[in-house]
Amino acid sequence: MKYGYSLGISLGVYPTEEILVACAAAGIQYIELSPRTEALDRYFAGAAEIKKTADGAGLVLRSLHLPFGEGLYNFCAPDPSDREETQRAQKALLPLAAALGVGYVIVHGGIPYPQTEREKYLAIARENIAELQREASAYGIHVCVESLLPSCIGRNASELLYILSAHPDLRVCFDPNHLLDESVTALLSAVGDRVAAVHFSDCDGLDERHWMPGEGVIDWPSVMEKLSEIGYGGPILYEVNPFLTPKSIDRRPLTFDDYRENHAALCRGERPAPIGTPIEAECRSCVFAERYFKNFGLKYEPKA
Ligand SMILES: [Zn+2]
Ligand SMILES: [Zn+2]
Repeated sequence: MKYGYSLGISLGVYPTEEILVACAAAGIQYIELSPRTEALDRYFAGAAEIKKTADGAGLVLRSLHLPFGEGLYNFCAPDPSDREETQRAQKALLPLAAALGVGYVIVHGGIPYPQTEREKYLAIARENIAELQREASAYGIHVCVESLLPSCIGRNASELLYILSAHPDLRVCFDPNHLLDESVTALLSAVGDRVAAVHFSDCDGLDERHWMPGEGVIDWPSVMEKLSEIGYGGPILYEVNPFLTPKSIDRRPLTFDDYRENHAALCRGERPAPIGTPIEAECRSCVFAERYFKNFGLKYEPKA
């Protein structure tokens, strides 16, 4: 093998014993949990059991992806009273992260509305994320700010490093499927050893797709080379839902063995063979540029 990275997966579903045991049997070693807001109570109630099952199966619960989007979990809420509520809500999830034994929580910087005031929202996100990190540091947990779509906060190295400058324990979660505002290699070079987590999935260059590496346009051999060059030491963690096929691709259901084989190809420095075939009409109906323009309150008119 050219690269010695371990294999991880983000589970977008509740981690039952059956699922965790199946992951371990397929050679998966690291798990990220990504609860939806409405499932948080179940995770709090089941945290000790999840941890015990994972330990028994030889799995490491590495990261917890905090809920994101509008409302309570939007780090760039413009209203100061919303901001306090957001900070309270985010901090209340740290005991869950601690009970699961994860070393990292993954956060989204949020979506600025309107886009014309990005700098203001970027500063708000920075302040809120630093506040979360101050409390997370007491648990020995790093907050990882995810690289996001260009409409969101954290779209390039410059925004990520600006947020990271607020606290030395802050880290980056690198997600190349988010059509960053700059090349993946430029971003990795700039952020360097503060990349502490990755989300691996592929896209078509039009929008985020969360396909398997090899099914889209990302140059995976270059990504692997760059990660190795900057000394990234975590697992290659897939953010491809094993239980749900996106509408944008024609593909049989995935098995956990697919992840192992894909990971092996990446570690050999190869571009993995695609499993599914993108559905062009579906992809054209969901285009990032359109969503981006909407955020500006503009109408997107694609070139013919
Ligand atoms: Zn995310
Ligand atoms: Zn991601």
